[in-house]
Amino acid sequence: MKELFDYRDYMIRNLDDSGQVEGYEKKGVTVVKGEGRLSGPGKVEVNGETLEAEHVIVATGSEPNVPPVEGLDEVTVWTNREATTTREVPDRILIIGGGPNGVEASQWLSRFGSEVTIVQSPESLMNREDPEAGRLIKEALEDEGIRVLTGRKAVKARKEGEGAAVELDDGAEIETDVVVIAAGRKPRTEGIGLETVGVEPTDKGLPIDNHCRLDGIPGLWALGDVTGVALFTHVALYQGRIVADNILGKERRADYRGIPRVAFSDPEVAACGLTGERAREEGIDIAAATLDVTKAIARPWTYEEDPRGTPVPRSRSGARGSRRGVGGGAFGGRVDPPGLPGRPGADLNREASGLGCPVPHLLRSLPGGIGETGALEQTNFNGGRDWIFAKQLRTSAWVSSAVTWAHKSWSESR
Ligand SMILES: Cc1cc2nc3c(=O)[nH]c(=O)nc-3n(C[C@H](O)[C@H](O)[C@H](O)COP(=O)(O)OP(=O)(O)OC[C@H]3O[C@@H](n4cnc5c(N)ncnc54)[C@H](O)[C@@H]3O)c2cc1C
Repeated sequence: MKELFDYRDYMIRNLDDSGQVEGYEKKGVTVVKGEGRLSGPGKVEVNGETLEAEHVIVATGSEPNVPPVEGLDEVTVWTNREATTTREVPDRILIIGGGPNGVEASQWLSRFGSEVTIVQSPESLMNREDPEAGRLIKEALEDEGIRVLTGRKAVKARKEGEGAAVELDDGAEIETDVVVIAAGRKPRTEGIGLETVGVEPTDKGLPIDNHCRLDGIPGLWALGDVTGVALFTHVALYQGRIVADNILGKERRADYRGIPRVAFSDPEVAACGLTGERAREEGIDIAAATLDVTKAIARPWTYEEDPRGTPVPRSRSGARGSRRGVGGGAFGGRVDPPGLPGRPGADLNREASGLGCPVPHLLRSLPGGIGETGALEQTNFNGGRDWIFAKQLRTSAWVSSAVTWAHKSWSESR
């Protein structure tokens, strides 16, 4: 256990960013450490000093969304920060929230010996993905002894001996040592002086246009989690490129139609574009195909001793001959959870991107395939120049293969 935590601390550089600061300074960037606050157009106050610039970019990120549970302040609560820096694993853990973060945490804590319960208010885990993902994940978690309570909310907490007792809305009570909050994130918009530039945040985040310009104000931009568009590193990076291009005078608009995402659960859940439900909400008539990997491909055990999962490519139906995709998911596959070293999988992207895995063949045989998704502009396969989602997809053999294949068919169709 000690070696694992030492390795994790090494990977997160013991939360010391001095190397990064030095790297930026070498590139000519001035780094000022302190709490920044807008103080008017083109002005930021920090450490009692006012900095002025022609362009200001707000990138203050997000913070954990703590649900209104009475008495939570009386018990031991961890957010992702404590959970991912702990050197001790409590005997009992109650996780509030069954999205990707809650699910990932449940597995590593359980595998380290904790007795873990997840309480999730929607009816399924990972409810922003297709229901199939939630079903598969719930089954997998329960198989390894994690208690999953969906459709229920934590409402009260109190101290109970050395630990805590948490009451749910159906009257059930769960005893735990630590409550882990994984109930989503909210954009960090308070106390940053938005009123000095006349910007009103919405519940979702900062209102940006498709150039990432804040409320259309010249010289004021926002990117990343604070915009509430999609809380992923690669989306922040993508928006960073949009902002940089626009500042440098190269007109560029963001397109969020095909955002890929991966949950590093076991089995892994990976998706891009719209879920079936979202597509229907947007009035898109879709065709979808669901496959059982174990039956649909000849060698499903190439990457797994116990292959399972269901790739679900979706395409827009209607337009004759059109293969324009709207999204897809791949539920299953290898896992490489953040912070857990020594798990194989890191090389899969390389293999998959060389079309070396069977999945592209599988997808090629589908009527719609993933095809020409909005993801392609965004996944930025522009001439193969950059591969901004490679990191995100690195262990997701299926989705990276799917996207690689989609890109290939997309380029061929031009
Ligand atoms: C547990 C967890 C797991 C995740 N896993 C993934 C994943 O697998 N893949 C993925 O793509 N994304 C993942 N994410 C999301 C990802 O971390 C975020 O989308 C990404 O960090 C957003 O980048 P950002 O620059 O907008 O914000 P941040 O990375 O939050 O950076 C904002 C920075 O601004 C600083 N700041 C805030 N206010 C001020 C101020 N007033 N003055 C000065 N500084 C300020 C903050 O301290 C922070 O350092 C995960 C998030 C969590 C919590």
